[in-house]
Amino acid sequence: MEIISDITETQDRCLATRASGQTIAFVPTMGFLHDGHLSLLREGRKRGDLLVLSIFVNPTQFGQGEDLDHYPRDFERDESLARAAGVDLIFYPSAEAIYPAGYATYVTVEGPLTTTLEGACRPTHFRGVTTVVAKLFSIVQPHVALFGRKDHQQLAVIRRMSADLNLPVDIVGMPIVREVDGLAMSSRNVYLSPAERQQALVLSQALDRGRQLVADGVREVAEVLAALHAMIDAQQDARIDYLLICHQATLREQERIDADSVLLLAVSIGKTRLIDNGSLLNPQDF
Ligand code: AMP
Repeated sequence: MEIISDITETQDRCLATRASGQTIAFVPTMGFLHDGHLSLLREGRKRGDLLVLSIFVNPTQFGQGEDLDHYPRDFERDESLARAAGVDLIFYPSAEAIYPAGYATYVTVEGPLTTTLEGACRPTHFRGVTTVVAKLFSIVQPHVALFGRKDHQQLAVIRRMSADLNLPVDIVGMPIVREVDGLAMSSRNVYLSPAERQQALVLSQALDRGRQLVADGVREVAEVLAALHAMIDAQQDARIDYLLICHQATLREQERIDADSVLLLAVSIGKTRLIDNGSLLNPQDF
């Protein structure tokens, strides 16, 4: 396994791989790897001759006062997990290399895809995500890139960007990997105290409850959301950022639940902000 920090060296390596007729599968991450990331790597291993993992805590997707400086990092551990997952190349650039002095170019997906949900709470977040993903695609030149449905909106935004910019990369969405008790895996889960970790279960429990109501025949979005609001508000340290039912592709809010409905929620448990989502009527997540 190679570890390369230099942008030109990585690009040259990837361009040579493409020129030789081999395919490149790419998994972009911010590191501190867990089983969610590893599921993307396992799928990537099947889909590409060269499997590239990037580890980059991207400053432009963090807002003022967010956890950029405290974001968990452990490169040595990531390196051994990546090796075991069959990664061929870790691209591990510095922030100064990605955003050198004079840097002035940003990629923005406009409209409700980026202004609702996460975009409403974190107005500069998706501009940072699309900018860094566009740059990473340009450096790694992947044939296929794998993303988790844990970040449902991010996946929708990246699909939009890739289609709009005619990027020659196949975007693959992968299922959410959860702890045995249902909590969606996240690098940020380490912030939770034991008491908060227990309360954090309310996110996946709300999803389960929503699915149950729909299975019982409820189709009114307002009715489902009222029940789930009450359930989450009952947790002492939980504060809802958003709790919405939207069309899975457009992310427009719905009034009635159908096969395209996805429940999306962001809940702060103490100081830790967690997100989760899932389809309500469709047995397959989007
Ligand atoms: P991050 O390091 O948080 O930027 O995540 C890197 C990639 O891993 C993104 O495509 C995430 O959606 C994906 N990911 C994070 N957590 C999970 C999870 N629990 N299940 C599946 N994919 C995940």
